[in-house]
Amino acid sequence: MIYQDILDNRALQSYLADLNARARKCGAPGKLDVAGLRDRILASSGRCEWCGEKLVQGPFELDHVVSLNQGGPNTTGNLVVACPDCNRRKGQKHPARFAAEIFNSTGRRTILVDKILRRFMLEPREQLPLFAADQRAEDLSDTRDHDDQPRYRW
Ligand SMILES: [Zn+2]
Repeated sequence: MIYQDILDNRALQSYLADLNARARKCGAPGKLDVAGLRDRILASSGRCEWCGEKLVQGPFELDHVVSLNQGGPNTTGNLVVACPDCNRRKGQKHPARFAAEIFNSTGRRTILVDKILRRFMLEPREQLPLFAADQRAEDLSDTRDHDDQPRYRW
């Protein structure tokens, strides 16, 4: 998808159908609609929300922050705009692990990276288990109360 596609309902519909089909296949809750998807894309201000690269006129993808097969819902609150490179590098990684990777490799702390690092690394003792490769993201997502943020809103 390229940034101009957000104005093209057919391109959006097609991308939407892909996302919803993937979610159904994984048994993930939630269903996206065109208006929600368009708003979510516009909210990115034309940048990769992971690394901050400008995406205007370049290709971009939509990434489920907590991946669908790790219990993440198919909702706009769990969706971010990503450059193809970030989306490929993230793969099935835990969001906190990838946020740390981005921060370490670029030195940039985008709003998304900052939110995730704050949310998952408030207490140093919690860092280690978060990065265990076999730990499922859903086990880590909402173990504490976050009164100021609805679930999965990045
Ligand atoms: Zn990126």
